[in-house]
Amino acid sequence: MSIDKQSGFCFGVINAIKTAEEELEKYDTLFCLGDIVHNNKEVERLKKKGLIIINHQDFRKLYNTRVLIRAHGEPPETYQIARENQIDIIDASCPVVLKLQNKVKKGYNEITSEKGQVVIFGKVGHAEVNGLSGQTGNNAIIVDSNYENFEQIDFSRPINLYSQTTQSKGKYLELIERIRSELTRKNCNPDKSLNVFHTICGQVSNRGPHLAEFAKNHDIIVFVSGLKSSNGKYLFEICLQNNPNSFFIAGKEDLRKEWFENVNHAGVCGATSTPMWLMEEVAGQIRDFSGIS
Ligand code: SF4
Repeated sequence: MSIDKQSGFCFGVINAIKTAEEELEKYDTLFCLGDIVHNNKEVERLKKKGLIIINHQDFRKLYNTRVLIRAHGEPPETYQIARENQIDIIDASCPVVLKLQNKVKKGYNEITSEKGQVVIFGKVGHAEVNGLSGQTGNNAIIVDSNYENFEQIDFSRPINLYSQTTQSKGKYLELIERIRSELTRKNCNPDKSLNVFHTICGQVSNRGPHLAEFAKNHDIIVFVSGLKSSNGKYLFEICLQNNPNSFFIAGKEDLRKEWFENVNHAGVCGATSTPMWLMEEVAGQIRDFSGIS
């Protein structure tokens, strides 16, 4: 049995958790705006150390305290509220996300001067997407992988297109093609009207080809991830395409003994939000009841 060495936290999540743990060593408690990582088990571990997860409504009511911003980043409004309420922000926004926020802000200012629009490929309501949309005064059109809101795009106006960092590269390319053909159908030149920014994070997209090989090389794949993780869904899809005997679990309690009958090589892997300790726990349980070494 093997655990995929490339699975587990990306540097953005490692940094956010390290920041939280350092703060919790100095103070007994720390507020965190939203789940620090899309993995309930890791969130529970940090809650035991004093992390208090709050939502945006709770945040508005706080005054004169310290609040951690997780790797997904936040819209400008959050920083404004912090200033008004004298809240110290411990900013663990991932540098890749911050760079993208700046890119979206700049692109929005430029495209609006040409009467254009910003389109973001991402999950409606996802924290990172809210942070990106906030850079456009929430005027961006958010199109998801099911093409929700696609009809809001005005093909007679220029388009700046960005992707949430953890989206599927294949699905992004499909959306780009669909926009291009729509523009062509409306007699617009896609090369002039559409400006595409390739903003999917390498920490996610580079794992795809590696995970495909990993999935092919094992009799069974056990993919460990929180249900809310976008990249978890995307990376699991890759496992499933390359090995139909792939299972998505949140933790060792979801394992079924019968999955491992007649299995010699089991592979354990996970999302960029899956802690290594959790994958090791799952691997240990598989060893215990299947005898696979
Ligand atoms: S996936 Fe990439 S952008 Fe997102 S937190 Fe990790 S390193 Fe940052």
